[in-house]
Amino acid sequence: MQKKTKDDVMETANKFGVNLVRFLYVDFCSMVRGKNSSLPRLKDRIDTGIGLVKGQLAMNSLDKPQSDTGLGAVGEVRMVPDLDTFTVLPFVGTTASMICDLIDLDKKPWALCPRSLLKKQIAEAASMGLSIQAAFETEFFLGSKDFDGRFVSVDNSVCFGTDGMNRANRYVSKLVDYLHRQRLQVEQYYPELGHGQHEVSISHQTALAACDQWVMLRETLRGLALEQDMLVTCAPKPFEDQPGNGCHLHLSVWDQFGERNLLWADEGRLSEFGLQFVAGIVEHLPALLAVTCPSFNSYRRLKPKHWSSAYKCWGYENREAAVRVPSVYWGHEMASSNIEVKCVDATMNPYIALACIIAAGLDGVRKKLKPPKPVTIDPADLSDEEREECGAVRLPETLQQALTELEADVYMMKTLGEELANAYIIVKSSEAEAYSLDQDFELSHHRMRY
Ligand code: GLU
Ligand code: MG
Repeated sequence: MQKKTKDDVMETANKFGVNLVRFLYVDFCSMVRGKNSSLPRLKDRIDTGIGLVKGQLAMNSLDKPQSDTGLGAVGEVRMVPDLDTFTVLPFVGTTASMICDLIDLDKKPWALCPRSLLKKQIAEAASMGLSIQAAFETEFFLGSKDFDGRFVSVDNSVCFGTDGMNRANRYVSKLVDYLHRQRLQVEQYYPELGHGQHEVSISHQTALAACDQWVMLRETLRGLALEQDMLVTCAPKPFEDQPGNGCHLHLSVWDQFGERNLLWADEGRLSEFGLQFVAGIVEHLPALLAVTCPSFNSYRRLKPKHWSSAYKCWGYENREAAVRVPSVYWGHEMASSNIEVKCVDATMNPYIALACIIAAGLDGVRKKLKPPKPVTIDPADLSDEEREECGAVRLPETLQQALTELEADVYMMKTLGEELANAYIIVKSSEAEAYSLDQDFELSHHRMRY
């Protein structure tokens, strides 16, 4: 695809009457943050970037900086935009945004830059002759505020019910319009099981674009809710008495030209290569959780019998398996062959999460790992011996446990790099502690922030 140039960006900005352009990055806690350049200063800023104090990456989702990371008031990097991510934001009119890499003053990617970490894994895959496609399915609750500012769900419809479609229509039809204006292709939309719970999926893209687009999807969900005076939350478990919000990740692995899906073998079964890739992901699942389900709230969602995955296992068409191999589509068998990682939620940094999942898969390929036996029923219904046969141990049950698993996984720690891993674990541990003190505060804070 042709890359956007500086002139393309300036032309579009002028055409749409844009006066501010957000330079955005996503921190370890999935907060989307940034600074704006005015339009007259944009051309220069694209080259120079905008300065950012390193201490920003030490912030947790309570906006409390963690000085143990060694990051604080001293030291700067540059937010350097990727022009291909330029988009006019329909929910704010005269503002556009670009997603940035965090570049050190020596002009090299900063060791703590999440987006650069993903680029590194994409390059690693490319060096093995592989390219990755990915897509996220984002679940969210939609509602309005009652007189006390409390959440009232937009519907109490049944799962996939048309009543839910009708009641959410004012929001959802505008959402689809706003997404398409930003060139995010909606794949499917439907009301989910929970009251006021809905799901939007965006068509698959190359790995980096899939993450960039997911960031813009969540920005749009929140921006539109504000515009319509509604409430939206993608938090993993915003309400104790309702299902959780997943953000399932689908991925496929292709040859370097994107022509042949290497997961595909005949009869809807994974290829030898696909089995190795899955084996790598399953092997690293306990550690991966620390980056795919990385909030205190995540662990309220990951319970047996909630279709969110609670065991370290995989299976064909099995919605209780952490890694599901979905059935393929008639006439598109090869192209639609993919794997779904279910233990992913919207509190992740998508770049870190996808980088680590790709790295895990590649580890399986390099080592020619064989996956354990696939699980053919709900793993919670297996006997202890049967679970053992499939290696289906319970996944970490708290954020702290997941962080401990991450620290113990030498390969994943190496994938993150020492500096990023160290800061990440400190920031996330601070959350594990802070949110353990008051359940109501934890729930309301995650509802609001995600
Ligand atoms: N809401 C479920 C979750 O927490 C997923 C339901 C589904 O399979 O789409 O992951
Ligand atoms: Mg769903």
